[in-house]
Amino acid sequence: MPLQFKRSWTDEELDRLRDTAARFIDTEMAPQDEEARRRGHVGHAIWRRAGELGLLCTDIPEAYGGAGGDFRHEAVIHEEMARRGLTGMSNSVHSIVAHYFLNHGTEAQKQKYLPAMARGELVGAIAMTEPGAGSDLQGIRTRAVRDGDAYVIDGSKTFITNGYLAGVILVVCKTDPAQGARGTSILIVETQGCSGFKVGRVLDKMGMKAQDTSELFFDGVRVPQDHLLGGREGQGFFQLMSDLPYERLIIGLSALACMEGAYEATLAYVRERNAFGKPIAEMQNTRFKLAEVATQIMVGRAFIDCCVEQLVAGTLDTATASMAKLWGSEAQGRVLDELVQLHGGYGFMNEYMVTRMYADARVQRIYGGTSEIMKEVIARAL
Ligand SMILES: Cc1cc2nc3c(=O)[nH]c(=O)nc-3n(C[C@H](O)[C@H](O)[C@H](O)COP(=O)(O)OP(=O)(O)OC[C@H]3O[C@@H](n4cnc5c(N)ncnc54)[C@H](O)[C@@H]3O)c2cc1C
Repeated sequence: MPLQFKRSWTDEELDRLRDTAARFIDTEMAPQDEEARRRGHVGHAIWRRAGELGLLCTDIPEAYGGAGGDFRHEAVIHEEMARRGLTGMSNSVHSIVAHYFLNHGTEAQKQKYLPAMARGELVGAIAMTEPGAGSDLQGIRTRAVRDGDAYVIDGSKTFITNGYLAGVILVVCKTDPAQGARGTSILIVETQGCSGFKVGRVLDKMGMKAQDTSELFFDGVRVPQDHLLGGREGQGFFQLMSDLPYERLIIGLSALACMEGAYEATLAYVRERNAFGKPIAEMQNTRFKLAEVATQIMVGRAFIDCCVEQLVAGTLDTATASMAKLWGSEAQGRVLDELVQLHGGYGFMNEYMVTRMYADARVQRIYGGTSEIMKEVIARAL
C-alpha cells in the first residue's frame, strides 16, 4: 500500500468538491497556463468560469452569494491548485479580500461586492505594500483625505497580487497620519472607469509567472465616503490584524500541498529515469531523500490539519498561524531544492513542474509577512 497523505478534516462532500476543483484545474486552467505565463495574467474568463462552477468564495455565506461552506472548502481548492503548481489565479488573495468584506464591511458593502466576487465578475486585490514600506506598514504614505462626501486618494502601491485584473481593490491608506496605526483606514476602489487610477506594468517576477502582480497609482482618486471599509475611520490596522490567521494558514497549507505534489511527481520521475543500469529510485541517496521528504510532509500534515481544524472552530491564534506560514514556506523551499536535485538537469528546465514550483516557492517566505516577521510575531507570543 503506497504512502498516503490523508487529511483529518475531509469528508465525502469535500472529496466531491476536490474532484470538481481538480477537473476544472486539469481541463480548463492547465491548458491555458503557458499562455498565461507569457502574458503575466490568466485573464478574466477563467475567473468567471471558476465562479460558474462554485469554486470561488466557497466559505462565504449563501446570503452573500457564496457557497456557505467553511475554511475546509477553501483549503481543498487552494491545495488542488498548489499540488499542480498552478499559481496563476490567486484565488487566495481573492478569498482574503472577500473575508475583509465579510468580517469588516457594512451590510451594504457585503451585499454589493461579495456576490459579484463569488461569480468571478469582480476579482479582488488588497493593496498594502508601497515602494517604501512593506514589513513596516506604519510607514505607508498613501493618503485618503476627506473632501465633502468623498475621500480623495493619492499615492502608489507595488507588488499587488491580482492588481492587473482586479475589479475591486482594498487600499490601505492613512486617513490621519498624526494618529499612527489608529490613523489608518481601508478604502474600497472600484477600478472600472475610475478616474485617476492607473495600473502600472505587470511585474516581471522570478516565479509565479502566470499570476499578475502590479504597481498601482492613485492620483486624486475620488471614492464616495461609503467606500470606507466598515464605515469607521481608523480601523485599518485592526481589520488587517484580525484577518491574519486566515491569510497565513492559506500560505502554510498551500506550501504543504505543493510539497505533496512535487514529491509525487518526483517519485514517478525517479522510477522512470535510469543511471548506471538501474532506476535512480533504487539508489540509496534517492530513497533516503524521498524518505526524508515524505516524513516532513507527514509531520507537516499533522500540524497543518490541526491549524485547519482550529480555524474552522474559530480558535486559531495569530502566532500559531504564523508558525504554519513560517514552517510551511521554509520547508517548501528546502524540499523543492532536494526534489529539483533528484531531477538532475531536467530539474532546471521550466517544462518540469518541480522547476516551476521551485521558483514559485521562493516568494512564499516573503509575501504575507516575511519569515523574519513571522519569527517576531511568534517570539512576542512566547
Ligand atoms: C509576488 C508578490 C506578491 C505580493 N502580493 C502582495 C499583495 O497582494 N498586497 C500587498 O500589499 N503586498 C504584496 N506583496 C508585498 C509583500 O507582502 C512584501 O514584499 C513583504 O511584506 C516584504 O516587504 P518589503 O518587500 O517592503 O521588504 P522589507 O520590509 O523592506 O524587508 C526587507 C528585509 O528586511 C527584513 N526585515 C524587515 N523588518 C524586519 C524586522 N523587524 N526584523 C527582522 N527583519 C526585518 C525582511 O524580513 C526582509 O528580509 C507581494 C510581494 C510579492 C513579491
